[in-house]
Amino acid sequence: MNSLLAQTKRTLRHLDIKARKRLGQHFLVDREVLGRIIAAAELGPSDVVLEIGPGLGILTKELAKRAGQVIAIELDDRLAVLLKERLSSLANVTVLNEDVLHIDLAKLFSTPTSYKVVANLPYYITSPVLRHFLEASLKPETMLVMVQREVAEAIVAGPGKRSVLSISVQFYGKPEIVSYVPPQAFYPAPAVESAILRIEVYPQPAVAVTDERGFFDMVRAGFAAARKQIANSLAQGLKLPKDEVLTLLQRAEIAPQRRAETLTLEEWAKLWQVFAEVRKKNNANSTSASQVESDP
Ligand code: SAM
Repeated sequence: MNSLLAQTKRTLRHLDIKARKRLGQHFLVDREVLGRIIAAAELGPSDVVLEIGPGLGILTKELAKRAGQVIAIELDDRLAVLLKERLSSLANVTVLNEDVLHIDLAKLFSTPTSYKVVANLPYYITSPVLRHFLEASLKPETMLVMVQREVAEAIVAGPGKRSVLSISVQFYGKPEIVSYVPPQAFYPAPAVESAILRIEVYPQPAVAVTDERGFFDMVRAGFAAARKQIANSLAQGLKLPKDEVLTLLQRAEIAPQRRAETLTLEEWAKLWQVFAEVRKKNNANSTSASQVESDP
């Protein structure tokens, strides 16, 4: 039997615990895949690594050998206790028993620090985790994460196959699939295939937009009615009359028959610019009209 698999089973038996599927617990038991993650992380002694979900600490130990500092955040109390004990001899590892989504990154790093995220992610929170880090005021330099294969493919998708997920990741960084990983690389084996995904996070978003939240609300509206023409889905999603949407699209030089999946990031940014200008003008007009009404 593969030694990492035997070791993992032994540890779980010894602790008298079972993997919690609801916490996405699928432990890595393949040394070759572990090597691939470590190689792609490109770590050196000056690196600070944040690991999400260290589990039984298989990856954590390898990270600690190469990086200057490792902060490992584990939600499961039973595993956090075990890890603190097992890794106590490693001076450069800190284990926090927390929900990663509740970690305030700017507070965790008291001074602005450049850091890298490395994780075999719990798949049930893949999108929220990506958003948590990519939208943070203190973003990581890179994210090297194991995710579900289909999710990785959706994230790197180009025009024609774009989605809110690919746009929101590609807005903040350049994603690439490092390699694919079969279910047998984990214990217990998940029902799906996995992929190692690397995101090089840009110092500034790929396109400049005012009000990122408003921009993403508009993108989501554009995808609200999947596979419909962009003019119809935007009218529906933004609750605007269709002729107004047609004018906006014309000003942004986007054909109304296009589908949301085909728009590039630059086109979304241009559409947002036009939309934000019109909204600002409408707001200014309605404010001055209400002032006139309330004038004695
Ligand atoms: N890193 C280990 C490995 O490669 O074998 C375990 C990976 S397992 C796929 C995901 C880990 O994330 C589990 O240990 C699980 O308990 C932990 N986890 C789940 N939800 C979490 C959350 N919200 N915050 C932090 N850790 C979480």
